[in-house]
Amino acid sequence: MSKESRPLVLKVDTERPEIDKIRIAADVIRKGGLVAFPTETVYGLGADALNSEAVASIFRAKNRPADNPIIVHVADREEVYKLTKDIPVMAEELMDFFWPGPLTLVLKKSEIVPYVTTGSLETVALRMPDHRVPLALIAESGVPIAAPSANPAGKPSPTNARHVVEDLGSKVDIILDGGPTRVGVESTVLDLTASKPKILRPGGITAEELVDVLGAIDVAGMKIETEVALSPGMKHKHYAPSSDMIVVEGEDFDVLTRKVQELADEHRLEGKRVGIMATSESPRYDADIVKVAGSRADLRTVARNLFEILRGFDEAKVDMIIAEGVETKGIGLAIMDRLERAAGYRILRV
Ligand code: AMP
Ligand code: MG
Repeated sequence: MSKESRPLVLKVDTERPEIDKIRIAADVIRKGGLVAFPTETVYGLGADALNSEAVASIFRAKNRPADNPIIVHVADREEVYKLTKDIPVMAEELMDFFWPGPLTLVLKKSEIVPYVTTGSLETVALRMPDHRVPLALIAESGVPIAAPSANPAGKPSPTNARHVVEDLGSKVDIILDGGPTRVGVESTVLDLTASKPKILRPGGITAEELVDVLGAIDVAGMKIETEVALSPGMKHKHYAPSSDMIVVEGEDFDVLTRKVQELADEHRLEGKRVGIMATSESPRYDADIVKVAGSRADLRTVARNLFEILRGFDEAKVDMIIAEGVETKGIGLAIMDRLERAAGYRILRV
């Protein structure tokens, strides 16, 4: 496809994806092109996972470091057996319970998975998205689809098609527009290749949910490590808006919100334009821009809006973002992971 005609944006029905549109996109995938599509977590930038050239073009489009492996998306459990070897029983149980859904499993890769896709590792990360558009696209393409988030490496992830157009418009062949994504943060990455299952990245499936299921299936004394280990991708800069950012954390909400206001005042006295990421429980803040992410009583709402809000502060050209931290329970663990990384670990504990 010529650069000038890029990208082709096709609106798709998320309940009943139009087969003619899916076929156009599947054709691009089979020919080694790039298709951006919605999932329940964030938008992905997809290519044929078994085509090294195609996967290499994902890395180029995103400017992604070559040692950061890409998650492979499947529409069918049979595919898992082709892409991996030595699958532990635990993986079967987890797939039964959480797939389709925001849980990515790291397993030993089979010969057919190219090293470009796995960042030269002997393992492959797999997931089945809970969204009809990618499921139809994978099925129609007839190949597993490697897809990282559809943003330039290091920036906040895209949660609607407009984000993708703005970030990668000229580098993608087709964007399937399925509206805003439901979960808003990426999948949980769980490594099943070590002696104990390990969360490499907290995400849409919570640590508590994993412990519940793995407990129920008796995993021979194995315990989930909620202590987040370093996945190859996580050592790189991530989710960062253009402006400076600081996260304020603390148990006492009154103390926390007072600190947020105090910091905002200090930075504005220095002549900076300040944005505050608040919650619906926050007091009335005084700042240049205040954005309410969602409710502390239902942190899923915060997860859903998180990246849109970080992007909004960039659009509003603030110099400093001050974000309220949330409890690291449930989906809060994934939210705090993203916020702390977005802030480059500039954290104030009160
Ligand atoms: P994203 O690029 O946003 O889709 O993120 C994918 C995440 O999964 C990154 O943090 C990767 O490092 C991680 N990942 C993918 N494949 C593997 C693998 N084989 N082993 C460990 N982590 C992986
Ligand atoms: Mg990403």
